[in-house]
Amino acid sequence: MVATLILLVMAICVMTSPSILSFQQDQPRVLLLSFDGFRWDYIYKVPTPNFHYIMKNGVRVKQVTNVFITKTYPNHYTMVTGLYAESHGIVANEMYDPVLNKTFSLNNMNIYNSKFWEEACPIWVTNQMEGHRTGAAMWPGTDVKIHGVFPTHYLFYNESVSFEDRVAKLIDWFISEEPINFGLLYWEQPDAMGHVLGPENPLMGAVISEIDGKLGYLVSELKKAKLWDTLNIIITSDHGMAQSSSERLIELDQYVARELYTMVDHSPVVAILPKEGKLDEVYEALVNAHPNMTVYKKEEIPSRLHYRYNSKIQPILAMADEGWEILQNKSDQLSLGNHGYDNILPEMHPIFLAYGPAFRKNTTKEAMSLTDLYPLLCHLLGISPLPNNGSFSNVEDLLLREVPRDPHPKFYEQESYAYFIGVFLGSTLVVVFLLVFTKHLTHRQLPSMQVQHTEISQPLLQG
Ligand SMILES: [Zn+2]
Repeated sequence: MVATLILLVMAICVMTSPSILSFQQDQPRVLLLSFDGFRWDYIYKVPTPNFHYIMKNGVRVKQVTNVFITKTYPNHYTMVTGLYAESHGIVANEMYDPVLNKTFSLNNMNIYNSKFWEEACPIWVTNQMEGHRTGAAMWPGTDVKIHGVFPTHYLFYNESVSFEDRVAKLIDWFISEEPINFGLLYWEQPDAMGHVLGPENPLMGAVISEIDGKLGYLVSELKKAKLWDTLNIIITSDHGMAQSSSERLIELDQYVARELYTMVDHSPVVAILPKEGKLDEVYEALVNAHPNMTVYKKEEIPSRLHYRYNSKIQPILAMADEGWEILQNKSDQLSLGNHGYDNILPEMHPIFLAYGPAFRKNTTKEAMSLTDLYPLLCHLLGISPLPNNGSFSNVEDLLLREVPRDPHPKFYEQESYAYFIGVFLGSTLVVVFLLVFTKHLTHRQLPSMQVQHTEISQPLLQG
């Protein structure tokens, strides 16, 4: 009897498992790659054959309007939530939350307080709630527990882990027995060198060439792993970079005493928290202080910036014109490149390329918003987007008319059909078997149960 039962279970597994396996192999797969600070036009500064290979075989969007402020964390969180910074709550790299009375700092890697992240729900949480698996290699926020969830696989942030090691991890996760459907890959360049050299420095050519080489490495590894033809890959960034200069400095110390405020976030968009009762005094001191600095009270921040309705946005915001820096005085560290400026400026815009079975070939689109990436990702993954500030219809024209989720639809239908027949037949056999087995057991054991009953009853009767 037991042997029969084992055989039945094995039969069900054999009947159903190929279908499950093929479902996993056919499920749409997406890799999202961000090269931090890769300005949209860098690919034309020096030969970048690998970027051009993707463009020729896929799509490119010329101007992607990212979100204000054009910094790393706000924009990376926008990519995975589709929300403006005021709505997802990661309003800067350096933040103070007056409700929590807590600070958040990318500079000090003090970013692990989940509360800062939980105004929104990133796409990997939704992906996993819908039964899929995610793998993240250093993407901002993926090593933070958000709404009680980490990505299925993730790496604890460590900038010294090489690009090649990050790629190797992702490929392992994509081809494992329980594969991920969604991978996120982050690389710190060319942002870091862009700050040091400035984007107009001829030495940036070598930095961009090196990144082109990294992209070429990724493509060849994906081909080796036989992932290249089935994976949808999106290559983008959080922001661009503008050239700074020691000739274009605004020194706050010249206009307002340091004791009157706390500088929460730094140049080129400075978040200012005035000391108790000093709001008007600080504002009046700064509002007309310098022709290349625009100063807003929080409630005056233009609505087009979508940067007002959040308790982590400070009472005063001082915004430098492009290429200008706001420091307390000249002794503060100055870099030759910076970002964070108005998101209307082309120099702040990131690159956007995509390739894969879902995307059109050799196609260029004029413009999109970075918030549109999230509904696009949800569509590619076949998951339901949460409310967001993007629009799938803005980016639908990047896709082939029919998203080829499955290269063999008829075969797939037959397999699905076989799967349900298998489950139905298997379940019926088990039920029939259990009925027969139970009946047999009941008949066989009935006398001994009666004996037991009698034995238990005896002492009671005696008592
Ligand atoms: Zn940067």
